Amino acid sequence: MEFLQPTTWDEALAAKAEHPEAVPIQGGTDVMVELNFDVRRPEHLLDLGRVAGLDRWERTGDRLRIGAGVTYARIIGELGDRLPGLAQAARTVGSPQIRNRGTVGGNLGAASPAGDGHPPLLAADAVVEVESRRGIRMIAATDFYQGVKRSALEPDELIRAFWLAPATGPQYFSKIGTRNAMVIAVCSFAVALHPGERRVGTGIGSAAPTPIRAAAAEDFLARELDWDAPLDEAVAREFGALVGAAATPIDDVRGTAAYRRHALAVMARRTLTWAWRDHRGPGDAENPGRGAA
Ligand SMILES: Cc1cc2nc3c(=O)[nH]c(=O)nc-3n(C[C@H](O)[C@H](O)[C@H](O)COP(=O)(O)OP(=O)(O)OC[C@H]3O[C@@H](n4cnc5c(N)ncnc54)[C@H](O)[C@@H]3O)c2cc1C
Repeated sequence: MEFLQPTTWDEALAAKAEHPEAVPIQGGTDVMVELNFDVRRPEHLLDLGRVAGLDRWERTGDRLRIGAGVTYARIIGELGDRLPGLAQAARTVGSPQIRNRGTVGGNLGAASPAGDGHPPLLAADAVVEVESRRGIRMIAATDFYQGVKRSALEPDELIRAFWLAPATGPQYFSKIGTRNAMVIAVCSFAVALHPGERRVGTGIGSAAPTPIRAAAAEDFLARELDWDAPLDEAVAREFGALVGAAATPIDDVRGTAAYRRHALAVMARRTLTWAWRDHRGPGDAENPGRGAA
């Protein structure tokens, strides 16, 4: 196995063009597991850890551009106030060691339906910046996921960054696991309120071949929510039901399809309720409580 170690982005693109089958490695928290368990034995590993700039984030206009090499730990520590949904998801990833190495770029590269970064990216309308020597493509997160562990990346392309706007309203992420830490999601859900546009974004994880949005649930809220009033419990319940119905889960060792649908409905109702409480402020006495079952 040959280990390619570019130090600039141009060198990395050149290496990927020359060896399209080369496996990129960022934090290595997925790749090293695959190598150790002999899931694959690529001829070339393309180490992106030394590529200058991949570990940077910056504000560009009204959006944040976050390099593919920015770790979960830094998203929590440096961007938690601006990206609360993604930071909440990041806090649930693995352990401190995994969060210190693992990146959202790697989560995107792996494109697992269970990746915790995906639901908040979908809910907040993230865009993935990918590049090859042929040029740059900006791919909406909704179009990025193409199948189980399959993304829109072409063999000669690398993920350079992802873009999303700082939160314009409350955001929440919720995940169910078979225990509280170091666990692959049984299913997960993210919600992002966009009060200026009177719109709610959603993201579902681990309950379909790819991470997905709950489009009908979003449309329902766009029609039914009164943004100047307490949250109507019937609306929250119907939202939950529509989120559950959007999923196409499977039965597997982590949970049944029926359980996942039910859990999604509960998580959707609860996260919307928490977000609405933030939106309306603590004085909103009519707002149903966090524990509403
Ligand atoms: C103990 C343990 C616990 C874990 N817990 C969780 C969890 O709770 N939630 C969760 O979502 N994940 C979890 N993971 C999986 C993993 O940590 C995440 O998927 C992480 O985001 C991977 O990031 P990385 O930088 O380590 O990626 P890497 O392992 O370096 O790469 C992952 C994939 O992305 C590709 N890739 C990397 N960078 C690029 C790039 N710039 N362009 C194109 N392709 C690229 C690689 O080729 C590979 O296919 C866990 C892993 C372990 C070992």
